[in-house]
Amino acid sequence: MICANKKCAKEFEAKTHNQKYCTDECCRIATNRRIMEKYYEKKAIRNGALRPCKKCGCQLSRYNESNLCSSCLKKTNQSQRDRLLGLINEIS
Ligand SMILES: [Zn+2]
Ligand SMILES: [Zn+2]
Repeated sequence: MICANKKCAKEFEAKTHNQKYCTDECCRIATNRRIMEKYYEKKAIRNGALRPCKKCGCQLSRYNESNLCSSCLKKTNQSQRDRLLGLINEIS
């Protein structure tokens, strides 16, 4: 296994199959960094950073914290429901 902490990236022997970091310290550092990244991302959004919708590319509102615009979100939810209904129809 290679430590998932990019600054460390040391090779180590994993004791459990889901161990991603060589030490607890590396795990802590990487978790902290993820939290900080999220924090800065949210801050940028609040400050009006422009973000495109991941599906259609239209500009997202700064109050929208997801990666999709509201109409794409609605479509996604709709198609998920359709798939579920299709599945139920197949079974019965
Ligand atoms: Zn490490
Ligand atoms: Zn969209």
